[in-house]
Amino acid sequence: MTDEEMKQLALDSGFTHAAFMDVADLEFDAALRQYCVENTCGNYDRNYACPPECGTPGEMEEKVRKYKRALVLESVQPVGSVMDPEETKTAKKAHNMISREFVNMMKKECSESSAVMAGPCTFCKTCAQIEGKPCRFPEEVYSCLSAYCIDAGKMAEHCGLPYWCGMDKVAFFSIYLFN
Ligand code: SF4
Repeated sequence: MTDEEMKQLALDSGFTHAAFMDVADLEFDAALRQYCVENTCGNYDRNYACPPECGTPGEMEEKVRKYKRALVLESVQPVGSVMDPEETKTAKKAHNMISREFVNMMKKECSESSAVMAGPCTFCKTCAQIEGKPCRFPEEVYSCLSAYCIDAGKMAEHCGLPYWCGMDKVAFFSIYLFN
């Protein structure tokens, strides 16, 4: 599949924007881990896709650096207010749904690939970590940009994509990683 075809598939899948970049140009900042530790989202130590179980900042960066190329996928969705957690949660769910669909399609083309998505893993209704059990579907787990300590603002700037879209729109990012 050519780059143009891959990008078109992303747009046809429902993303608002899609842009290629080299993984070498992604910027990681271990200091971002502190935001996960502060646990404003409530998923710290309660989801296998999130810290601390997902891995240290260094281990997370290593997982991404195994790949050479990245297709940055952005959805921009209208909301009444970007400050409304229920609305943004619904938008995040929709973003992750199209991210999974896209990644599943791409994995048929290229099994040696991976992805970064938004928020905790919601593949199961309740994450097995909360029940002290092993992850039920390890191959379905995708951690978020924050868990990877990826500087999303710099990534968007590098790709020429909008980061802050105003009070009435919410933007989420995923990354498809491949060689
Ligand atoms: S697949 Fe299920 S058990 Fe594994 S991280 Fe996701 S929600 Fe948790």
